[in-house]
Amino acid sequence: MRVFQSAKQLNTTIQKLKSEGVTIGFVPTMGALHEGHMSLIRAAKEASDYVVASIFVNPTQFNESSDLKKYPKTPTSDKRMLQLEGCDLVFMPSVDDVYPDGEHKEIDLAFGDLDKVMEGAHRPGHFAGVAAVVKRLLDIVEPDGLYMGQKDFQQTAIIQHMISHFELPTKLVICPTMREIDGLAMSSRNRRLTKENRAIAPIIHKVLQEVKEAYLDEYDVVDIEQIALEALTNAGFRPEYLSIADGVTLQAIRRKAGHNYVVVCVAAWAGSVRLIDNVIIKAL
Ligand code: AMP
Repeated sequence: MRVFQSAKQLNTTIQKLKSEGVTIGFVPTMGALHEGHMSLIRAAKEASDYVVASIFVNPTQFNESSDLKKYPKTPTSDKRMLQLEGCDLVFMPSVDDVYPDGEHKEIDLAFGDLDKVMEGAHRPGHFAGVAAVVKRLLDIVEPDGLYMGQKDFQQTAIIQHMISHFELPTKLVICPTMREIDGLAMSSRNRRLTKENRAIAPIIHKVLQEVKEAYLDEYDVVDIEQIALEALTNAGFRPEYLSIADGVTLQAIRRKAGHNYVVVCVAAWAGSVRLIDNVIIKAL
């Protein structure tokens, strides 16, 4: 496994591989890797000749500097895990490698209503930062396949929008959310949970499953959302939002008719840790 810091050197290596007809699968991450990330590496490996992973905690997508400061960093174990999984190239750039002379921090792209709701509404500027860094990484890595997790459901919609807008030659592959045995969605942030909050954390997935059942059981959407929010609050969370949304437009569903793709997404604080999760209620 080769580790690169310089964008230029990585791009030169990739250009050479591509000229030999090698296909590239790419997994962008912010490090503090876990089994969820590894599932993306495995999916990329299955479909590509070479797998590239990046580890970059992108400052421009953090709307709160304290969140950026607290973000866990485990580079030694990250490299070991990637090596064991058979990743070929790892990009571990500095902020200056990604944004030389402060450039590439922004892209000229509107997201329509996609970033007006859920994470977009609660984390101003977050998706502008995410889209810009992924665009920059795609320009460097030029992958055939980009592997991302359903865990960040809204992020996948934003990135698909960006890929389509710029007509990039990369296919987005969305991989299922990997969970702990008790249902908690794996996340780099989980390691910051206190023992008490780790104990209640699986309730989030349980509530999402109950929302799914209630939706399919003909209950009213607004009532379901309200009951679920109360259940989370009673369990000890501070929920930010819980939205039963159209899987394509991401807009909140008020009447069930006409929605063939339905997802329930949630963000809730467990102590000082902000957790997000989602469950597909109706698949396309
Ligand atoms: P992050 O390092 O949190 O930015 O995540 C990097 C990629 O891993 C994103 O595409 C995430 O959606 C994905 N990911 C994070 N957690 C999981 C999980 N539990 N299961 C599957 N993919 C995940």
